[in-house]
Parts: sequence; C-alpha cells; structure tokens
Amino acid sequence: MSSDPARVRFAPSPTGYLHLGGARTALYNFLFARQTGGQMLLRIEDTDRKRFQSAAQEQLIDSLRWLGIRWDEGPDVGGEFYPYIQSERADLHREYAYELVKSENAYLCFCDTNQLQTQQTTHGGYDGHCRHLAPSNARKRAESGEQHVVRFRTPKQGSVTVHDFLRGEITVGNAQLEDFILLKSDGFPVYHLAAMVDDHTMGITHVIRGEEWLPSLPKHAMLMRAFGWTEPIWCHLSVLKKPGGKGKMSKRDSQPLDKTSGHSIFIDDLRKFGYLPEAIINWMALMGWSLDDHQEDFTIADLQQTFSLKKLNPSPATVDFSKLDYFQGKHMRLLPAGEVAAGIKPYLQHTGLDPDDATLLRIVPLIQERLITFDDAPKWAGFFFSANVSPDPADLIAKKLNQSESLDVLQHVYRSLAALPSLKHESVEQALRSLSERLGIKLGQLLSPVRVAVSGQRVSPPLFNTLEILGKQVTLQRIKNAIKLLKEQ
Ligand code: GLU
Repeated sequence: MSSDPARVRFAPSPTGYLHLGGARTALYNFLFARQTGGQMLLRIEDTDRKRFQSAAQEQLIDSLRWLGIRWDEGPDVGGEFYPYIQSERADLHREYAYELVKSENAYLCFCDTNQLQTQQTTHGGYDGHCRHLAPSNARKRAESGEQHVVRFRTPKQGSVTVHDFLRGEITVGNAQLEDFILLKSDGFPVYHLAAMVDDHTMGITHVIRGEEWLPSLPKHAMLMRAFGWTEPIWCHLSVLKKPGGKGKMSKRDSQPLDKTSGHSIFIDDLRKFGYLPEAIINWMALMGWSLDDHQEDFTIADLQQTFSLKKLNPSPATVDFSKLDYFQGKHMRLLPAGEVAAGIKPYLQHTGLDPDDATLLRIVPLIQERLITFDDAPKWAGFFFSANVSPDPADLIAKKLNQSESLDVLQHVYRSLAALPSLKHESVEQALRSLSERLGIKLGQLLSPVRVAVSGQRVSPPLFNTLEILGKQVTLQRIKNAIKLLKEQ
C-alpha cells in the first residue's frame, strides 16, 4: 500500500492473557505500521478497574514480544505520550469531557446510579431525565457537591453514518443510541471517551481492531465529530470462528480445547505446548488476510513487505489448529539446529533427564523433521538420555519371526556389533545388512527388535545413526538386556 506513514495502536485491556484475537489485531497493526514506514503504539486501556488484573500487562507484553511483534512507543519503551497507560491520563480525559459539556454536546446527569442500573436493564437505556436541565442549574448542583456523571448528548432524530474501511458505510438511527456516559461519578472516564481522546491526541491515523468494536463505532465517530476532530480510518477485523466453524470464538472456548488436545487460544499456552512464534505468526496472518490465492508461507519479515489493509477479508475466519500444526512443521524444519536443541532441552529436562548440548546437537538432525512441537522431543529423543529403557518383550519379536528366531537375531546382532571397533553409522549399516543376508531375513525384520531393544519403543529416529549416538557400550548393554528379557518369556 502506498499510504503515508501510519500511526496505529494496539490497545489491549489488561484483563487476562493475550489470546488469538488480540494477537492477530496486534500483528496486523504492527505489519501495517512497518509496511507504511509509520509507528505502532502499545496503549494499555485500564479504565475498567473491576476487570483489571495487575499481572496482565506484563504477560501481554511478554507474549507479544515472544511472537516478534514490536512497537515504537509504549509503557515499556517510552515515547512522547509516556506512560501509555490510560488510567494515568484521566485528567486529560476529564478536561475533554468538560469541553463537551461547555459546547453542550454533553451534560451533567444527577440520576442516582443504582436507580439507573435498574432502569437500564428493564427499559434498555437511559431515559434522558437530566438532558434538559439548564446548564447553569446543573453546574450549581455539581458545585454544591452533588454526585453526577457526564453523558454525551446523542441527537435524538436522524441517523449517523460511519465508514468502515472493509465494510463501507454503516448507518445507524440515532434513536437507537442512548446518551452514554463519558465520566463516571468518581470522575473516572469510560473507555469510549478515553480511547477517542487518546487516539486523537496521540495522532492515530488508523484504528485497526476487532469486529466486536463495530457496535461502538457510531459512538466513537460521534465523539470525534463533536470535538471537531478528523476521524481516523476505521478498520474492523473479521470475527474469529471456533474450530469446527460453529459460532464466534470467545476466551472461554479455550477450556475444552487446552492441554489434552495441545490446543489453546492463549498465546502463552501455545508457547508452553512448544509451538514456534514463527508458525503462530504465519497461521494468524492468514486468519482474515491473504496475499493471493496460493502463497501461504510467510515469515514476519515477508509480511512486513506484503501486508496491506486492502487484502483483509471481513468475512469470519475459522481457527483451524491443524493448519497451525502444518505451519509449525514447516517452520520447525527451517530452524537452525542450535535453536531446535535449545528449544527441546527444557522439555527433556522436564521429564527428569539431563541432556548435554553436544549430544543434543547430534540428535537434532535425526528428529527435526519428525517434531511438530518441541514437547514432542521426549517421545523421539528421551531414550538417548535415560539410564535404561524398558521394552515390552512382545515388541521384541519381529514380524513373521517367532520368539526364538527373534532371540537368535538379537544374539547375532550383538556379536556383529561387538566385533566393530566403534559404532559409526556406515559400518553399522554394512555389518547389519550383511548379517541380514547371511540369516536370510529382510533388513527390516532384523532392525525391528534392535530398535525396540535400544529405544524401548517401536518407533525411533533412523537406527544406524541412533546406534552411533548411543555408542557401543550402551547399545550392547541394551541389546543384552533385551536378550535376557526374551529368554525369560
Ligand atoms: N481496549 C479495547 C480492548 O481491549 C480496545 C478497543 C479498541 O481498539 O479501540 O479490546
């Protein structure tokens, strides 16, 4: 897109962990800022004190950074509008609210807040009781200390037309819009006022956010217009649908999905499951955006070059975890061996093993293609580091061979390998191939009890290399144990 440098913001509320919807919004904002040579801001919108969670801000920042998303201004990196925490700008919001009172676009409302809540739930909106109070009278009441809120004076006739970049013009009858609150009775701004004041004063050119904010757009546009400000370009992203395509995804949907299935909508969970940020970025980028009909492999650097708002699709996007696994496999294969080794190490340690870096680096080329996530590593590589393995004796019997034939195979293998000075994969292969010919059995039949003997399992990385890494002593020891096991059958 050949636009001027954009100033965009990701404005999460610190109410919980970063989830896919939020992360995708952040990603698109980041990409658009980079694409246009502009700036991305991180602004923490903490005006809803009831839902505030003190650890959430740090967690959000941590998850965003882990994904590779960066911002030019924000609570942790500074900038002209530091500290970028909405609640700390409440004085400014208040000033602007009273500016609207002065221009009669807003008014003071003294209705009892408890009574109001009842009215709102039963009648669906404020009845406008204080709308017609004379401003001088209202001011006097406020000055005498009477509790009040500040409400926006929404026109009662006509309609408001707003423009969404992806959806075009949207017109809403004013009768549907109530006189919404701008300042609460404790003087604290509500989100609508705070966000618009912040967007304007921070010079935001494009508001790119989730579709759930579309119903608030008329209010936001009206506020901007009442101040006489130029509206930003509004761009509401597609809804994310639940895996399986039914209904809209919400944060709660993660519960039945997580842990057991290895899937979650929370970025931090996906990180713990061993997914790569590169794979999550690639996957999320395509939830509502595409470059063309065929290209689907993207790095975050590619996306910074190719992303454009024009290619966003407003139709709902499905969260497809099998697609995440697909991208995960692709990005896992592209990773340098050192990074794979560093990635899998904690998962092996977590199972009580103590892997050394040198051995890990030798194993990585054997298993990298087979890993989906880092937490698959114990399955593929745990046996390299365990003191012993405990094969199921039944698995030691090769296909189409009986117990004594399998025993015989293992004894022959033991002798062939014992005769080698050391286990280099080429010499192991040569020795075992010629042994299978001598015994008149297929190589596969010969290898399968050996694989089970040394790894304790029926699948393993390529066997010749596996034996080389295990070394002669461990290999022979494990084959000897397997022979013993089979004999005891
Ligand atoms: N604080 C809002 C949220 O948590 C952001 C809405 C907006 O981007 O305007 O989703």
